[in-house]
Amino acid sequence: MSHYDALIVGAGFAGAVTARQLAQAGRRVLVLERRGHIAGNAYDRPDQAGVLIHQYGPHIFHTGDPKVYDYLSRFTSWRDYAHKVVANLPDGRGGRMEFPVPFNLDSLEIAFGPDEGARLGRALLAAYGPERKVTILELRQHPDPDISALAGYVYEHVFVHYTQKQWGAAPEGVDPGTTARVPVFLSRDCRYFQDAYQGMPLEGYTKLFERLLDHPGIELRLNTDARKLLDLSGDSIQFAGQPFSGDVVYTGAVDELFSCRFGRLPYRTLDFQFETHPVDVWQSHGTVNYTVDEPYTRITEFKHLTGQALPGVTTIVKEYARAYTGQPGETPYYAVPSPENNDLYHRYAGLAARFPKLHLLGRLAEYKYYNMDAIVARALALADELLK
Ligand code: FAD
Ligand code: UDP
Repeated sequence: MSHYDALIVGAGFAGAVTARQLAQAGRRVLVLERRGHIAGNAYDRPDQAGVLIHQYGPHIFHTGDPKVYDYLSRFTSWRDYAHKVVANLPDGRGGRMEFPVPFNLDSLEIAFGPDEGARLGRALLAAYGPERKVTILELRQHPDPDISALAGYVYEHVFVHYTQKQWGAAPEGVDPGTTARVPVFLSRDCRYFQDAYQGMPLEGYTKLFERLLDHPGIELRLNTDARKLLDLSGDSIQFAGQPFSGDVVYTGAVDELFSCRFGRLPYRTLDFQFETHPVDVWQSHGTVNYTVDEPYTRITEFKHLTGQALPGVTTIVKEYARAYTGQPGETPYYAVPSPENNDLYHRYAGLAARFPKLHLLGRLAEYKYYNMDAIVARALALADELLK
């Protein structure tokens, strides 16, 4: 270990960007990844039918931060792609209907018909102004009876069942930042994200990561669980039986790092059901959310996202959410922020803070609902700090 200046645990965005920045500045970096591949949850690969799939669920890049976009653009070109999502639900007449999510002025006219939809749209615009994003929890507080009835409709038909499936709780029972990610949008913009930069890595995420990690200063070891090698039981960091005095950047779940000694931090996990079908196109949009019925939350068809031209075959994925239990083979995907869980997180973070050279970085290690761009920004900032 004396060969290395820094040890990075995890080869997702947090680990790979930090590793690259340190290596570029002349540091010798060892990256340990317990999976058999790089790219963390952004990993993509061709399936048996040749369809490029995202193994851990659909990942669409979007950011308002030009620094993050420019940085990643050094490692990939982009496919211009604006993600669009519809809700698919019973129409109350024995059939089904679809409308845009986030729920917007177009959705209103589909759900209520053109006249009533336009009238409600005018009421919303008068109350909030054009192009405003209003959270469902905020909308439900509005005193106007029309608006509050509309809020009740959106709550019932977009949020309550989906949130129950995803989090095992109603919208009031989850962190308000979670449902605020998908507001009601007083607009006819049907894109899921409004960020200035959005798209898909032209050759996929895994290729992007191959380039990120391709540096003579980086040594990568796959299939290596760092917890078997890291010893944090004493006053200083030991690695593979030797003291290690360099920086250690840990991007896994922090409770696991300390053998879950205060109990497990709650996470949600997902079961992914991939299906390949002998058709060109399976569904109308990249992602269709099942906001009222069906046991899964959403179906994503990858060819919409990647633009892959592959006639006669397509692959979709259905997502089923449940509590993470820590059983072998399960992956923690979503932190479950709440005052109680955040307190537990801080107890673990306090253990980590005893080691000034141990840095917790990433969606799991920081126990936060971060998108990819936020993680890249945080990795760039941490690397700057470590290089000072
Ligand atoms: P990860 O990608 O989880 O990487 C952590 C890595 O550390 C993993 O590879 C893990 O195997 C490894 N590791 C953990 N413990 C150890 C250990 N002890 N030893 C060695 N290795 C270890 N973001 C977006 O911006 N857009 C999206 O559309 C989007 N969609 C998403 C869909 C789903 C279903 C999920 C779950 C997330 C989505 N995200 C999306 C979020 C995105 O996945 C994360 O922001 C990003 O992957 C976080 O990167 P990370 O490096 O922190 O974590
Ligand atoms: N949400 C919902 N209905 C939808 C879409 C989202 O209730 O049709 C809520 C749900 O609680 C979800 C949260 O908004 O977990 C955030 O949605 P997002 O699409 O950002 O989730 P992610 O893609 O991160 O799973």
